[in-house]
Amino acid sequence: MRILIAEDEEYNQMVVQTMIELLYPEVEVLMVSNGAEALDKLKTEAFDLVLSDVDMPLMNGYELVSEVKALGLNVPMICVTAFAISGDKEKLLMHGFERYISKPIDMDDMKLILDPYLLPAGIE
Ligand SMILES: [Mg+2]
Repeated sequence: MRILIAEDEEYNQMVVQTMIELLYPEVEVLMVSNGAEALDKLKTEAFDLVLSDVDMPLMNGYELVSEVKALGLNVPMICVTAFAISGDKEKLLMHGFERYISKPIDMDDMKLILDPYLLPAGIE
């Protein structure tokens, strides 16, 4: 399993990466710092899941998910955002994210959301 994470803030990069490594030690993580870099990676490499911040320089999370859909790439995309309140939830899902994880990240919530994507079926 390979996961691509797009996040522009160093502290958040560290938090997300540490949590993923604790929850899914077998999963390979590639970290990039904006949507444009993420798109470049997605065009040339295979990933099982994308975790993306919304607010990033050069290309934000909404633009990234739109570009990914426009290219017909099938990778599931999950948003990690501090903005997921009321109407923003619908906006995130409407843009093409399958799920979202709210910041500050609760590791149990993250596990609930990511398990279906990152654990082989039938294994606890
Ligand atoms: Mg950001």
